[in-house]
Amino acid sequence: MEASDGPTGRFFTDTTVCIGCKACEVACHQWNALPARQGGRVPLSGQSYDNTVALSDVDWRHVKFIEQFSADADRSTSRWLMMSDVCKHCVDAPCLEVCPTGSIIRTEFDTVYIQEPVCNGCRDCIAACPFGVIHVSAEKHIAQKCTFCYDRLQNGLVPPAPRPARPPRSSSVRSTSCAGGRPIVSSSSTAWGPPRPTSTAPTTPCSAA
Ligand code: SF4
Ligand code: SF4
Ligand code: SF4
Repeated sequence: MEASDGPTGRFFTDTTVCIGCKACEVACHQWNALPARQGGRVPLSGQSYDNTVALSDVDWRHVKFIEQFSADADRSTSRWLMMSDVCKHCVDAPCLEVCPTGSIIRTEFDTVYIQEPVCNGCRDCIAACPFGVIHVSAEKHIAQKCTFCYDRLQNGLVPPAPRPARPPRSSSVRSTSCAGGRPIVSSSSTAWGPPRPTSTAPTTPCSAA
């Protein structure tokens, strides 16, 4: 399916305000009814405070925790970077190009979507994606990744946020999900959602919103 001239969906994650709360991971699991890995009995990874570790067939969004230390022997200075990683819904999507069954399509929202009933589990898309996004489900034996919540888009909603409330309605409007006092900001060039009283993204902490 060719991209339309209508609303298009893209993520913008502002890593400068992400606090790594992982609420976006939880929201994705909840909306898409994704099971916990190993029935929730996941051992601590030992990699910072990140026990999701990577995108997987049941983790379609992953907040990376990246610890960086100075080169001196005492590692006297450090910084902690967080980045909520997900399918990029590429403009030129190699996963879509290589899929032999036509399972992966460009939706009317310009997002990249895997039609599960059409997938034969060949894994070509896994090799094609440069970002390690797609994984095959051990239970369903088909490719899995972020759908950009196609079901929500079709019903005029944006992807779920831990604290949604304000869907975008123009290219300059942001939707926010507040995480422990600071907003995680995602932007979109859509015209979805009902009119809002203001187009200014909140910059105040959750508690003051
Ligand atoms: S799965 Fe990979 S290649 Fe396909 S749209 Fe997502 S990021 Fe791009
Ligand atoms: S695993 Fe499924 S979605 Fe991926 S390339 Fe093969 S048929 Fe297409
Ligand atoms: S858009 Fe939907 S499927 Fe994609 S990461 Fe967000 S909640 Fe998950």
